[in-house]
Amino acid sequence: MILLPESFDLRMKTILGDGFLKFSDSISSAVNHSIRINTKKIEKELNLSPVQTCSTGYYLDQRPIFTLDPLFHAGAYYVQESSSMFLEQFIRHAPKKPLRVLDLCAAPGGKSTHLSSLLPSDSLLVSNEVIHSRALVLSENLKKWGNPNVVVTCNDPRDFSRLPGFFDVIVVDAPCSGEGLFRRDPSAIDEWSESNTSICAQRQKRILADVWPALAENGMLVYSTCTYNPAENEENISWLADFAEVEGIELTIPEQWGIVTTEANNVPCYRFYPHKVPGEGYFTAAIQKKGSVEGEKRSKEKSALPLASKTEQSVLSNLLQQLPLSLVKFEENFLAFPTNLLQSLDQVKAALRIIHAGVKVGEIKQTSLVPAHDLAVSTIINTSHFPSLDLTLEQSLSFLKRDDFRLDFQDQGWNLLTYHSHPLGWAKNIGSRFNNGYPKEWRIRMSTIEFTGERLVKEAKKFPPIKL
Ligand code: SAM
Repeated sequence: MILLPESFDLRMKTILGDGFLKFSDSISSAVNHSIRINTKKIEKELNLSPVQTCSTGYYLDQRPIFTLDPLFHAGAYYVQESSSMFLEQFIRHAPKKPLRVLDLCAAPGGKSTHLSSLLPSDSLLVSNEVIHSRALVLSENLKKWGNPNVVVTCNDPRDFSRLPGFFDVIVVDAPCSGEGLFRRDPSAIDEWSESNTSICAQRQKRILADVWPALAENGMLVYSTCTYNPAENEENISWLADFAEVEGIELTIPEQWGIVTTEANNVPCYRFYPHKVPGEGYFTAAIQKKGSVEGEKRSKEKSALPLASKTEQSVLSNLLQQLPLSLVKFEENFLAFPTNLLQSLDQVKAALRIIHAGVKVGEIKQTSLVPAHDLAVSTIINTSHFPSLDLTLEQSLSFLKRDDFRLDFQDQGWNLLTYHSHPLGWAKNIGSRFNNGYPKEWRIRMSTIEFTGERLVKEAKKFPPIKL
């Protein structure tokens, strides 16, 4: 039985009344494991139990060691707690037009990869994380997810006031006291204190106030936390509805989903308790911004971004699927970015610190092309342009670890290495050996348990990869 802090217990007894015992028992029960699939990479439905609130979410019967599943590194799926997948219900309410969407507190990328799947290709996703090291992880996960209409930034929420009225949707998945994670991560219990919940509530208000000017008129802000504390949840929504003109967004939710509806200043709010839903603790609400918004700018000017020359384009465009993409020169490299979003990218570039934008395609060295790893795992690569080699599980893990090993290539030069036909990265065959193009900083390290060679594969087989 997990022992919970006394003042937390007291508060939850007040909130849940008779339901408290079931709640407290559920904190000691088994955690559900879930994934969300990348439909641009996996087109079929899986033979697994579906997450009710999300069209691409599934529960797993057992938890594999994800690090040892090559398809995880290929961006074929994302490991995400199921309550968080509820975001999809709000996004379905967004207007059906090209949208500019900001995920403000985005690392490691659960909500951003989900948004990236939900948004049409002519919409822009700006995925932001204030902590630089976490922004790099976010960038890695979004590159593996593979869509070109994404910009990853590393900015403080206050920097977004430089883009007044720019976004149609803003998601604020706020840093919080993490009470909803007590079951999944008992160390969150040790870090919990009453005073920390107050600090979190203050920080959340500051984040909301800072980003509010960036939301367009009639735009939607989705707020969420993984905590139960009303001060970090309903009270923040109430506070926002006090200082701004807003309208709550009400969803029709089937009773069997087990989600509890509350209310804050006329805004419907949604609570997830582990004794009622097959997931962890969570809170969310969405509001629409009313009243006129000052400084809204939709640039009509032509983008000033440097585009590839005709010759460069003729080399590069073969590598990509036939999509409305432009090739932008960035230092030595070329980026593929949706043509209709170039002006928006210009505006974001002028206001924010960009970590990556679009899909890096590669560089042209003298006359030959060096393809970028990002292209290999992207959803826009023209795979038929490259010779490819499908690897076994053993070979895939060796490649992802950047070990020295042999491969029998048919072709010289850059080969696309795949696992079950999903691209993992590049290898350049130079005759007697090959150069491993997998990014050093992404390689499998398994630092806690030193697996090598055969042991690594044995372990991967013990916790088999997800059957896709
Ligand atoms: N949305 C993410 C996902 O689905 O994977 C999880 C986000 S996590 C709950 C909150 C994020 O907010 C963390 O990545 C944290 O680094 C970031 N954060 C911490 N302090 C912040 C602040 N003052 N302003 C904005 N973001 C902050």
